[in-house]
Amino acid sequence: MQKIAEFAEITPSADIRREAHGWRAKCLQRLVRLDLPVPETVALPAQTVRAIAAGHPVDAKAILSHFGPVPLISVRPSPENPDWGGPGTVLNIGMNAAQHARLVETNGREAADALYLRFVQAYATHVARLDPDMFDSGKTNADSLRDALRHYEREMEEAFPEDPAQQLSEVLRSMARAWEGTSARLLRQAKGAPVEAALGLVVQEMAQGIGQGISGSGVMQFIDPVTGLPLVKGRYLGQSQGRDALKKTEAIYLTRDKRGPSLEDIAPEIFADLIRHGAVCRQKLREEMQIEFTIEDGKLSVLDAIKVQRSARAGLKIAVALADDGIISREEAVLRVEPRALSELLHPQVDMRAARDVFAKGIAASPGAAVGRIVFSSQAAQASAARGEPCIMVRRETAPEDIRGMHAAVGVVTERGGVTSHAAVIARGLGVPCVVGASGMRLDTKDKRLVAADGRVFGEGDLITVDGTTGDVLAGAAEMLAPALDDTFRKLLGWADSFRDIGIRANADTPADAATARQFEAQGIGLCRTEHMFFDEDRLVVMREMIFADTSKDRAAALARLLPMQRADFVQLFEIMAGLPVCIRLFDPPLHEFLPHSREGLRELAEALDRPLSEVTRRAEALAEFNPMLGMRGVRLGVVLPEIYAMQAQAIFEATVEVARKGAPVVPEIMIPLVSARREVELVKTHIDAVAASVRVKTGVAFDYKLGVMVETPRAALRAGEIAQHAAFLSFGTNDLTQMTYGLSRDDAGRFMNTYVQQGVFPEDPFHTLDVDGVGELLLIGAERGRATRPDLTVSICGEHGGNPESIGFCRKAGFDYVSCSPYRVPLARLAAAHLAL
Ligand code: PEP
Ligand code: MG
Repeated sequence: MQKIAEFAEITPSADIRREAHGWRAKCLQRLVRLDLPVPETVALPAQTVRAIAAGHPVDAKAILSHFGPVPLISVRPSPENPDWGGPGTVLNIGMNAAQHARLVETNGREAADALYLRFVQAYATHVARLDPDMFDSGKTNADSLRDALRHYEREMEEAFPEDPAQQLSEVLRSMARAWEGTSARLLRQAKGAPVEAALGLVVQEMAQGIGQGISGSGVMQFIDPVTGLPLVKGRYLGQSQGRDALKKTEAIYLTRDKRGPSLEDIAPEIFADLIRHGAVCRQKLREEMQIEFTIEDGKLSVLDAIKVQRSARAGLKIAVALADDGIISREEAVLRVEPRALSELLHPQVDMRAARDVFAKGIAASPGAAVGRIVFSSQAAQASAARGEPCIMVRRETAPEDIRGMHAAVGVVTERGGVTSHAAVIARGLGVPCVVGASGMRLDTKDKRLVAADGRVFGEGDLITVDGTTGDVLAGAAEMLAPALDDTFRKLLGWADSFRDIGIRANADTPADAATARQFEAQGIGLCRTEHMFFDEDRLVVMREMIFADTSKDRAAALARLLPMQRADFVQLFEIMAGLPVCIRLFDPPLHEFLPHSREGLRELAEALDRPLSEVTRRAEALAEFNPMLGMRGVRLGVVLPEIYAMQAQAIFEATVEVARKGAPVVPEIMIPLVSARREVELVKTHIDAVAASVRVKTGVAFDYKLGVMVETPRAALRAGEIAQHAAFLSFGTNDLTQMTYGLSRDDAGRFMNTYVQQGVFPEDPFHTLDVDGVGELLLIGAERGRATRPDLTVSICGEHGGNPESIGFCRKAGFDYVSCSPYRVPLARLAAAHLAL
């Protein structure tokens, strides 16, 4: 078989291509073009490496002869993308008895032994596949080299190869084969590498880092990898090679440092050269690079430069600084920041450098992390907050009556639930870190204890950390990083806004949510779930009175007490949103959600209403439904008990007038939930128009409003054509629409969702990423039929999917006017929308 030796010398004009020779070869060529002192290097293209892996013999002599009488060389992996990994670098190829003897003469025995031993260790473990433990005793002494050579000979039943050409061809072969191995393939595919991803290899003359004058090696970068702020960072180690300086404790600092000697002290000119090289790299490679360098007898070589590893916050700082310095465009800065990485900046995070004592894992339902003491009830959470003690509320699952506890808690953990269960939705709205469906722990509510899978028991008051970004629950107080909502963050999102072409609103129920939405520069409120306004203690009582009213007069009296409270809510929302659109959804949940579930609660209610317990219990039972999510809720309540919607409409219009009188015009948007038939809309519209007319007459103020429909049932999507006759806008509530399209309970799906996704029944949790095939088709049909009736119809989505980048992509393509998501997801949505438009 003919030997192959296809390679390219890395010179400024050589034809080195990333697709053929890999990122490292391309990067080295750039360094060469920048006139950096890069040792002689050649690149083997992927095609050659593939042939080597397939068994073609290599003409290593031809490669070696390129380097002339150079003693030693190294081989490094060069895949197309640095994230795809690759086999480890092998240094000091060419080392043999003759080279050893020569190096003993020039550099002394210790140095010569160290170089040789390093090569024998690498060769024995990577090429001959011998047990690495046998070649790394931890300590290196005068006998180590001899022992390693002997051990090699014993195991392989042949002497350690002396011929540099044989050494090189074996190293190339083993690296080429390692790339084809199953585990390497799975690992890189997990990082997004395509199946056909190939490996290039880079062969480089060794700059040895060992010598008489100043000699050593090190690694230098110019920013802090956690904050992204300018900072020279790295280590240098005399008489060393490769990345040793990062591993050994005796390595020294680069810049002058109180703690000990530094490279700047011992070699100020070389230090200055490195700083200069770093600046050139940043300018010309348009990236913050980490430089690997070697000094041999006072001569500096730059062996390699890789993109600095960075946290999300550092990534954002770097991108904005590069654009501010005119090195990259604003478009590119926006594209360089991954939308999902933003959530790391909005909330405190567990410091990734710290140890993690995880005792339970669940679904990451609301990002960020918090440390607090365990409480098992809403009351305990409120008591804890009143004492000024941060607490984490741990529940089997949460119900509407837990809202106050969730407000009071800094984090929430539930044993059950999925991404759209009550706890998850509320926690995201509040910006409270939350883990739901936490398996690996057992909640014993009676004894108020939490038993971890490993047997550890946590009681009320024990300190834990909830990491809603990863879904982990940790014992004790983990080290935290503060949020990073600074000017850089705002600047990048401002740039993103100038590129995107779909609106972003927020789902906001309370003034606090609205303030968050403004802070994150949402373009309005796309969904205000008004029922969340009725859970405050004082309102809940009146609400319950309304529910238990025997006559329509009594009901009207209770509603009249709720009216000013609602009006005040809307005034606040309109004022905070200062002229931006506010879309208010009329009351949606089944009434029994407002009733206590425990006997104790019912007794308290009987007392408050001054009625016998038996009657209260009977009425509560009568309101209970077998399938409340498909029962008397949404517009069905609006049709059967029109007084509730009438009160809400009156509150909305009166608030409109009040705010307009102060000089800020408001055009409220009123949205009807859970519609499935045109007639429902007609009936509600008639009532609301009448209320509007009466408020206009009463106040003498003219105002406008828009009435729209929330499309949450498959039938509403199919009949959107006729529904749009009465609706100025349609907003798809994809939580319920997903639930009803699949016939899949959004509160219970967590139980089997993992299995379903693992077994490929669903590609992903459809409550998390929009099911474009099924639910998506209903969205397209609804939008198309609605617009056919009314070309100026505003179309949007307000389910949890509104904050999911893939789902935003779907809505954008379908020509939706805006998406609406939890306030804390607004920044992510703004950036994701810009990515889609660029
Ligand atoms: C929905 O169903 O998508 C929605 C936004 O409403 P909710 O989550 O309040 O049911
Ligand atoms: Mg809904």
